[in-house]
Amino acid sequence: MTVQKLRNRLYDTEEIQRKDNRFLHPWELMEEVGSNKRTVTAEAEGIYLYDSEGNRLIDGPGGMWCVNIGHGRQEMADAISQQIMRITYNSPWSTTSGPAAEFAHQLAKRAPGDLNNVFFTTGGSTAVDAAVRLIQFYNNYLGRPEKKHFIAREKGYHGSTYISSSLSGKIRDKDFLDFETDLFHHIPCPDPLDKPADMSDADYLDKTVADLENMILEIGPDKVAAFVAEPILASGGVIVPPTGYHKRCLEVCRKYDVLYVSDEVVTSFGRLGHLFASEDVFGIVPDIITTAKGLTSAYVPMGAMLVSDRIISAFDKDKGGAMYANGYTYSGHPVAAVAGMKNLEIMERDKIFEHVREVGPYFQEKLQEMRDIPIVSDVRGMGLMGCVECLISDGSGGGGEVLAMDYDIGNRIDAHCQKRGLLVRPIINMCVMSPPLTITKDQIDDMMAILREGIEATMADVI
Ligand code: PLP
Repeated sequence: MTVQKLRNRLYDTEEIQRKDNRFLHPWELMEEVGSNKRTVTAEAEGIYLYDSEGNRLIDGPGGMWCVNIGHGRQEMADAISQQIMRITYNSPWSTTSGPAAEFAHQLAKRAPGDLNNVFFTTGGSTAVDAAVRLIQFYNNYLGRPEKKHFIAREKGYHGSTYISSSLSGKIRDKDFLDFETDLFHHIPCPDPLDKPADMSDADYLDKTVADLENMILEIGPDKVAAFVAEPILASGGVIVPPTGYHKRCLEVCRKYDVLYVSDEVVTSFGRLGHLFASEDVFGIVPDIITTAKGLTSAYVPMGAMLVSDRIISAFDKDKGGAMYANGYTYSGHPVAAVAGMKNLEIMERDKIFEHVREVGPYFQEKLQEMRDIPIVSDVRGMGLMGCVECLISDGSGGGGEVLAMDYDIGNRIDAHCQKRGLLVRPIINMCVMSPPLTITKDQIDDMMAILREGIEATMADVI
């Protein structure tokens, strides 16, 4: 795609923005409905987006941690369109399709441990929802209906259905909404910034693992069904746990017969350099993995949960009648399954996981260089997930005395970066970066140069 090609098409930015006033966007500030003017994205290729004015933007958030193989792959478009002409849709209740069967088979072959059973959903929220409902179903079937409490973490994000949002712990997302609070409990997540200065790393790890064990004991092990955790807290601000955290939490879960659900909606499909991060990065084989986003690289919506043989084999074949009455019209949609298959083929053929393992450390190193900007208070990440956190401090750099928290600082940085050719994902005072996994070192240099300019321009505005 070239800008020239873009200019040959007609985009009326004002007209689109005017009509967009009827599109209630996710996380919309309701007072602003009708007056928002969002950037109109028009075309995309590789790591680049083009807006309706013909400006090229690096897709810093990779859509929303999802356009893993990059935009505009012709072979994806071909596979998808061929499947639409072959069969557009089939009911997953009474029939199946070659693509859905093959994709389930390929995922099960590559999944950690005995996670050999694939339940397709429409996205990440419905994958988490399906996991909670399956676990409750499983415990009811086993004759322990009281074992249905779930423990998740503060700052965690698991989705926007009633169940998955109730599992989420991000405080700012709780305003004016209702949640299930009886069955869902939250413990602190390990966050290096929350570690008391006089506490050793080992003691802090012990404390955060003890938080889980204490919560299980407080609720009662007979009542706790599962622990749900993201390997790295994604929209909570890319918070990387201390080494050994997930392993230790899994041990605690095993001790009390509590299932472990690893929410890999963001961390799977290459974001950390592996298909799934649970086993390859964090050394655990959970009972259920939830995935979405990179599963199809966002070419078509799809999610999935991968379930262990241990759970499935608990259902007695001779008994019958254990129908898991949960599912979606679009579970295993053949077009989405074809996109998933092609996505996996491209990732493996083009050695995208190896590429992330090579460029990821470079990306992190360059991001760390932002620490010398006085309003940058923290920089963290892993693989191709990164976060720069800013505070208006006394100007002495990271860790300086905090004078004020500017809730709009992320938006300000995004606006400055967009003018210079980079789209940023602002979350309050953080900028989260998760570019397409195909990004090269030169492109990382471009991205970081713009990010630095954007943060420095913001600093000039606010100090
Ligand atoms: N789980 C995690 C860890 C996520 O980051 C997200 C979305 O960002 C979800 C679940 C929800 O996925 P979706 O938006 O596809 O429903």
